[in-house]
Amino acid sequence: MGLPHNTLAIHGGEPVAAHIAAPQWPPTSKETAERLADLYLRGDWSFNRGGQAAALCEEFAEYCNSRYAVLMTNGTVTLMSALAVYGIGQGDEVIVPAFTWLSTAMAVRYVGAKIVFVDVEPTTLCLDPARLEPAVTSRTRAIIPVHFLGSMADMDAITAIARRHNLIVVEDCAQAHGGKWDGRSVGTLGQVGSFSFQHNKIMSSGEGGICVTDDGRIAERLYRMAHIGYGPGERMGEFKSRPDPDLVCHNFRCTEFQAVIIRDQLRDLDRRIEEYNRSMARLAALLGGLPGVRIQSPGRRATPQSCYKWAVLFDADPLADIPAEILLKAIRAEGLPMEPSYGAVPTQLLFNLPVTDYVTADGCRVAMEIATRRTLMLSHQWLGADARTVEAIGAVIAKVAGNAAALRHEAA
Ligand SMILES: *Cc1c(COP(=O)(O)O)cnc(C)c1O
Repeated sequence: MGLPHNTLAIHGGEPVAAHIAAPQWPPTSKETAERLADLYLRGDWSFNRGGQAAALCEEFAEYCNSRYAVLMTNGTVTLMSALAVYGIGQGDEVIVPAFTWLSTAMAVRYVGAKIVFVDVEPTTLCLDPARLEPAVTSRTRAIIPVHFLGSMADMDAITAIARRHNLIVVEDCAQAHGGKWDGRSVGTLGQVGSFSFQHNKIMSSGEGGICVTDDGRIAERLYRMAHIGYGPGERMGEFKSRPDPDLVCHNFRCTEFQAVIIRDQLRDLDRRIEEYNRSMARLAALLGGLPGVRIQSPGRRATPQSCYKWAVLFDADPLADIPAEILLKAIRAEGLPMEPSYGAVPTQLLFNLPVTDYVTADGCRVAMEIATRRTLMLSHQWLGADARTVEAIGAVIAKVAGNAAALRHEAA
């Protein structure tokens, strides 16, 4: 009707992906619903009354090839607890990437330590090891690398720096379930690994979190911290031993319902990550070499790469000067619900700490600019869609990228 066929949907053209949909998230099944109903009717709802929590911990540890796992209420208290069990607190510094979900940084604040933000790599958007070492001071006690969006922190370089300076490494794997670094499960490369089961994550029980570690003494401290002092294996009401006097214990217990859901999802995790990798490979093939479009690089030694958000960076010509909000509007109008970047932690709306609580080492230019202003993301469940839908995702990005002049006009 007079419009060139490639006209953007925001300019009245035909959307290229008007009818696509992502698979339902979180996934549900009759079998899990039956197990939940049984549990409900039995009434064994609280932590491990029906043996579900202990079974999940055993299975999750085995899945990661780790010795211990400790289940908690969410993936923020797991991070906080991991720092606290090492006695990290006031007067100490903990390094976190400047681009992550704010919880990573908040965990440092909860124990009273100073947050030290270090910049991310422009390719992987994960903690940049080259910026990390100069940020280490005599007060640094720990590093929290994050396996972020669709990539992995460089664990070879980070653990080498940690060893040189005698630092604890707590891996934040809230976005990386099922990921492996050179064959080793994420979460097992440092001293403690922390995972989240919050609604949006790659595994979900609504809320929840788990820590893994190979250190029996740390596992016991984590357990006691999350169970108001009870030791591993002690039944409710049967107090047998006292927690270490330095340990401030909480109630971070999950319910059995959450354990039932995660146990079932764990059985399907590898298949789902494989599917995600097929979709990511197809999108990389479709968009490779497209001017102005750059997909977040996977972890260098990912085997496989897990993915929480498929992230696209629009930081090259001819798209580098078009505001991300305009790109997002155009992409959404084509039918693809991409999301804006969280932005660097100090720029996030929910991050309300005074500047005295944190340091932004070296300005964190990549996090502040590329990550905050030039990145859009698509939630992981889309990577589980059928081949036709994945093609449509690629077609949306290609169409928008091919209309730089029209978008520039829109921005002006
Ligand atoms: C979600 C998330 C957390 C926190 O997990 P919750 O279960 O929501 O508390 C921590 N770090 C990262 C990177 C996350 O994405």
